[in-house]
Amino acid sequence: MSRTLQPVRGTQDLLPAAMRRHRAVVETARLQALRFGYEEIATPIFEFTEVFKRPIGETTDIVMKEMYSFADKGGEEVTLRPENTAGVVRAVIANGLTQSLPLRFFYQGPMFRYERPQKGRFRQFHQIGVELIGIKEPQGDVEVIALGAEILRSLGVLDRVELQINTLGDAASRQTYRDALVKYFTQHASKLSEDSRARLERNPLRILDSKDEGDRRVIEHAPEFFKYLNEESIKFFASVGIGLQDLGIKYKENFRLVRGLDYYTHTAFEFVTTELGSQGAVLAGGRYDGLMGVMGGPETPGVGWAAGIERLALMIAEPAGRPRPVALIPIGEAGEKRALVLAQELRRAGFAVDLGYSGNLKKHMQRANKANACAAVILGEDELKRGVAAVRDLDAGTQSEVPLAALKDRLAAFRG
Ligand code: ATP
Ligand code: MG
Repeated sequence: MSRTLQPVRGTQDLLPAAMRRHRAVVETARLQALRFGYEEIATPIFEFTEVFKRPIGETTDIVMKEMYSFADKGGEEVTLRPENTAGVVRAVIANGLTQSLPLRFFYQGPMFRYERPQKGRFRQFHQIGVELIGIKEPQGDVEVIALGAEILRSLGVLDRVELQINTLGDAASRQTYRDALVKYFTQHASKLSEDSRARLERNPLRILDSKDEGDRRVIEHAPEFFKYLNEESIKFFASVGIGLQDLGIKYKENFRLVRGLDYYTHTAFEFVTTELGSQGAVLAGGRYDGLMGVMGGPETPGVGWAAGIERLALMIAEPAGRPRPVALIPIGEAGEKRALVLAQELRRAGFAVDLGYSGNLKKHMQRANKANACAAVILGEDELKRGVAAVRDLDAGTQSEVPLAALKDRLAAFRG
């Protein structure tokens, strides 16, 4: 097959069975989000490159290696969104929504990152996510984590994931910690990977996130963040923990957990599974009080998370298939004319209808079975002349004559 007929590396076709799983994730999430007061928002899938560059951080993997950036035909530097928080915050600022805080948003859609494709890791992937903007209290963190947990619970995966949380502290704590890290990593610079040595000056915190073996050994003995937290940051983190305990949400503190993005403060969290190999993070997020200011809006606190739909789709049980149709089986020209109109009537009445256009009775019945139809309505010339149709229950195998006028009522029994 010609190479260009294959999807581009790291992208995939979502055929109906896969799409059903995706939809189950999105619809479950949207329903729970609405219960928490989060309304759906959609921002463009590409933005000016600057929208992502500044806030995500010039030294992050995403900005340095993973962005799909290009100049469009008008010479504008644009980027396919690698994540959606920056886009949502941009939309909040651009639409003047900071006048009506707090804001609660849910989103879903494709994201793009140029990384090495593996199981659960793609170049075009999809996320659901939420943002709570304008709440500075730790209850906000608890709220979004609780919403995440409720979604995972309704998807039937909560007991197969572990919630890990950490705090990155406020700006002041972060600075003290940063200094300590630079000191430590500088002493061990010769054992660090090239990538991490580059991060040492620009963004030492990111070294903690490194997956390199050698780096991991150095990181093992690195100073730990919680020893550098000021009182306020400790209090904040403790409140989040208490809130989660009140709600019966189990968690584990993981002081090595840092988010890949630069704009996080205080709480960072991840729901992790061991079922997906090294692609264990299914839902990840944190507080981003600095982001709105960095993007040129009024200083406004925020907290949110994003979850990979592909990863969740791999974990959920098989969702219900499409509704079973009623198969219309016309025999002869009069039957075909009648079937066309009847199909419209039945669909308007809420039935799924499978309508075949040609073939004998046997072919039609095969089609009906393949479509998993619950009933077949046989429209033969003789029957039509008498104003009736033959209705066959395809599960029971029984057949009876039904007046056309009573067809809808009689078929209602099959709708389940
Ligand atoms: P990872 O450590 O797996 O690279 P990340 O820290 O880059 O994850 P985030 O930016 O926090 O991921 O995105 C939130 C979620 O989106 C992840 O927890 C994961 O479920 C999903 N995700 C991220 N990148 C991909 C990808 N390339 N393909 C599929 N899902 C992804
Ligand atoms: Mg990543």
